[in-house]
Order: sequence, then C-alpha cells, then structure tokens
Amino acid sequence: MTNKYKYFVANWKMFGDLKSLNTLNRVLKLKKSIKFDKAKIIYCPPYTLLESFNKKLKSTKIDIGAQNCHPLDEYGPFTGSINSKMVKKLGCKYIILGHSENRFEGETNNLINKKIKVSLNNKLKVLFCIGESLKQKKENITKKVLSKQILEGLKNIKNLNNIILAYEPVWSIGTGIIPKKSDLEENIFFIRKFLKKKLRIKNPVILYGGSVNSKNINELRTINQINGFLIGGASQNSNKFIDIIKKTFI
Ligand code: PEP
Repeated sequence: MTNKYKYFVANWKMFGDLKSLNTLNRVLKLKKSIKFDKAKIIYCPPYTLLESFNKKLKSTKIDIGAQNCHPLDEYGPFTGSINSKMVKKLGCKYIILGHSENRFEGETNNLINKKIKVSLNNKLKVLFCIGESLKQKKENITKKVLSKQILEGLKNIKNLNNIILAYEPVWSIGTGIIPKKSDLEENIFFIRKFLKKKLRIKNPVILYGGSVNSKNINELRTINQINGFLIGGASQNSNKFIDIIKKTFI
C-alpha cells in the first residue's frame, strides 16, 4: 500500500438508491482536475448499489469497496450473506472490515480476522477499522484496546501490505464529536509505531474516521501523520464530500 495518496473513503452505510448515482458526477469532475491527483477516492455503497457504482466508475480513477462480507470463501447456504469473492466480481477493490457498527452486532476480533484473510485471498485491499468505546477511553485503556484489536484482527496474516488501518473512536462515529488534536496525534502515533515494530509494516497507511465534516477538516488536515479519512454521514452529500477533499489540499 502506498501512502503517497490522501485517502477519502465514502462509507454510505445503509443509505442510497439509484438516484444517488447522479451525485457522483460532481465528484468525478473534481477528480479529473490535476490538483486532486493525490486524492484516492473510494466509494463503499451498500451491496445493492455496487454493480451500478461499478458501471459508473469503472473507467475512472475512483474505486469502489464493499462494507462487509461473510467469513467463508465458498458459496453456501447462508441466507442474507455475501462473500468477498462475490463483491470482488462486482468490481470492488476494497472492503471495510471490523467497523464498530458490525462489532456492536457481535463481530469479534477472531471473526474479523477470518474475514480479513478471505478478503486478502480474493485480492481485496482491506480497510480495517479499530477504535475504543467511550467507556474504554474513560478507563484509560485505549492503547490496550487498540493493540488487542490489531493483534487479533491481523493474527497469522503474512502479507500486510494490502491492509489500511482506519482509526475510528466509537464515540466519535456519527456524534459530531472528534478527538482533541493532541489525543488523536498520540493515538495515531501509537498505532503507527505498533504496526511498524510489532507487525513489521514499513509504511503503514492510517486513516482517521469519526464525524469528519467540512468544518473540522481544517483542523484534521493539519495532522500529517494521517493518510486520509473514512467518512460516513458527510460522504453521502457530494457537496460536503467535495468540500472535505478540497479543504484537505488547501
Ligand atoms: C463511519 O461510518 O465509519 C464514520 C466515520 O461515520 P461518520 O463520519 O458519520 O461519523
């Protein structure tokens, strides 16, 4: 993975329909400008829109990703599930795994580890989310939590080059609250050091996610240890998404 880019990952969660495809036109126009050459834009719409997004974005410089997958590689009797092979076939280059909204529903580090392995086998790049809850933050165990999520999530994975880490404090997602600059710098620094020392990743790519918007981006962009952003709510509105990208490159 290269960190010559700034990543802007749009996580549309369970939102969007075919009409929302039109909103991509403005983003496509922006991406054509040489000024934003270093912006790596990745759309992760719900499964239902992957095929349409792929058609629209196939021959552009914008990539698509899935939001989750089943831990098995084979096809099988798993009602309501979709595997990483299937999303790969739909044109995905990336996949979000370990998102706190899925951890809430019982996804463990062990299950995430299986999903990561199977996705890497299917040649997907993994956007691996980690982050502490408010309770864990208050108990002052953030670093312990992050270390455990990293070690268990990436256990026995040899090729870590296709992993992008997304640090997403759970208490920041969808709340409008972002961490204090000094805390965020400290945690990103800690994750980077941990990935380098413990997992021997030479140049870790680390994103921040949690209530990124067109106002707080002015502060977030000054943290140069951050290689980009995973953006939920604000990414569904292309004006806001574009504003975030533009302001990052001021
Ligand atoms: C997310 O879903 O990963 C996220 C960061 O959401 P939001 O930007 O809405 O906080």
